[in-house]
Amino acid sequence: MSLKIYINGHLFEKEEAKISVYDHGLLYGDGVFEGMRIYNGKVFRLEQHLERLWNSAKAIRLEVPLSPEELARDVVTTVRANGIDNGYIRLVVTRGVGTLGLDPNKCANPQIIIIADHIELYPQSFYDKGLEIVTVSTIRNHPAALSPRIKSLNYLNNILGKIEGQQAGCVEALMLNHQGQVAECTGDNIFLVSKRQLLTPPIDAGILEGITREAVIELAREAGLVVREVSLTKHDVYIADECFLTGSAAEIVPVVKVDSRIIGDGKPGPITRDLEKRFHELTRR
Ligand code: PMP
Repeated sequence: MSLKIYINGHLFEKEEAKISVYDHGLLYGDGVFEGMRIYNGKVFRLEQHLERLWNSAKAIRLEVPLSPEELARDVVTTVRANGIDNGYIRLVVTRGVGTLGLDPNKCANPQIIIIADHIELYPQSFYDKGLEIVTVSTIRNHPAALSPRIKSLNYLNNILGKIEGQQAGCVEALMLNHQGQVAECTGDNIFLVSKRQLLTPPIDAGILEGITREAVIELAREAGLVVREVSLTKHDVYIADECFLTGSAAEIVPVVKVDSRIIGDGKPGPITRDLEKRFHELTRR
């Protein structure tokens, strides 16, 4: 069965779902998006994703032409229309069709696109054995230029980081901020375990406020762990007992090697494993 894609209130067959080449989402990366998971027919933390979408839109002065309640309803309708119980949703709001100039005021209507699809998961071996990652030379966007808190359609900063990581044979890459502190990976947040404390960079390190990050912080506190949002250096990563990444698509994925330094004993650690288990229970219950 072909997928049904939502564009501005209508469902189209995948082959018929088309957007203008004059859309500023395409011409300039002018728009915002969300990536969400569906578990057992339910969208995980939909309200939080919508809140982040609205915040991103506000930051780029884009008015979403629906209320959060209306958009939530349309997301659920799209998921049901495609009969997807476990999968992934891409929600996109573009500035819309404009002229070839930058002027966003010449874009008449923002376009809302919802794609609900099956998810291409990382291979199981990544979770069993853990990832090796490298720090890349591309720094994360300077927050005063384009805040990493905005989940915008312009992902070139992350893509350049990803290309560097791939060149080193890694599927994910660690990005530092303009001050040389640990920020996040190209599409995931980063956590360390050090002396039984869970450490992660604060939002003002210039990172996306990951929905999975938030869920993991809550789960860790419930488990009685001390969680600290503190600025971290590469050195902190190298000497950590455990390291893992979080994201809607990846969920929790252990990291066992960074810049050729073995993390802990080179195997996914017990606290990572416990949090994976708790996250699995939270999402699949
Ligand atoms: N950082 C970046 C740069 C991301 O693109 C993402 C989402 N893919 C994340 C972190 C993780 O965020 P979330 O848990 O909300 O998916």
